[in-house]
Amino acid sequence: MRRPIVAGNWKCHLTVPEATELVQQLVSGCDTDAVDVVVCPAFTALAPVGVLLEGSVLQLGAQDVFWEAQGAFTGEVSPAMLRDVGCRYVIVGHSERRRVFGESDETVRRKLRAVFAHNLKPILCIGETLEEREAGRTAAVLERQLEGALEGADPAECERLVVAYEPVWAIGTGRHAAPEQAQEAHQTIRRWLAGRLGERTAKSVRIQYGGSVTAVNAGALLGQPDVDGALVGGASLKAGSFGTIVKAAHETQAVNR
Ligand code: PEP
Repeated sequence: MRRPIVAGNWKCHLTVPEATELVQQLVSGCDTDAVDVVVCPAFTALAPVGVLLEGSVLQLGAQDVFWEAQGAFTGEVSPAMLRDVGCRYVIVGHSERRRVFGESDETVRRKLRAVFAHNLKPILCIGETLEEREAGRTAAVLERQLEGALEGADPAECERLVVAYEPVWAIGTGRHAAPEQAQEAHQTIRRWLAGRLGERTAKSVRIQYGGSVTAVNAGALLGQPDVDGALVGGASLKAGSFGTIVKAAHETQAVNR
């Protein structure tokens, strides 16, 4: 049985005092032990938020990482540095990194390898644009991104992998995928994982849906059998809406997996 995972991607939001206030509300509001709950603040807030999460059920994640351990790489943050401040998860290949910062499948693969090598858990983001969906290329795009990121990956290591299916047209737009569209994409992803990494790994990998998840639509999306959680942007910045999404994951977990 796969344990649901709900992660909040705070993106380039919240100063340290703002992040501190939000995390204090989340710690008292999210008390489930049946869901992995992860918060991913900006780099500047990782260390103070990590301290506040100690002893709580919430876990710390980063929004990005560099692949080298250390060196002359101005502006970058290494996997060891993320572990140092208490990170357990790292988002890799978010569509904003691919689109705004030009990250390629090769870049994503190098980051993913570094995350595995440092015993962190990657949240690998993949998803099609609206143009690709309308051209009937959704499955081909997902498979290409999986191939690019996971070429040569070790199946045992991949049991730690989390995939986030995030249709680009749904991120930050208020237009979420229909639950059936999400399920279809998640099935495509799991089928690909089974073909490349074996049934056992495919069954254990958790696949999150991301893209305009809210307190209102979370229940229907998370109720799909292959939707094992959510990667939440905008709605993770308010303790009330994020808490409701976590609750929906808790309530639907018996249905899934
Ligand atoms: C995201 O940033 O990964 C995301 C899904 O954002 P939003 O929930 O705001 O669409």
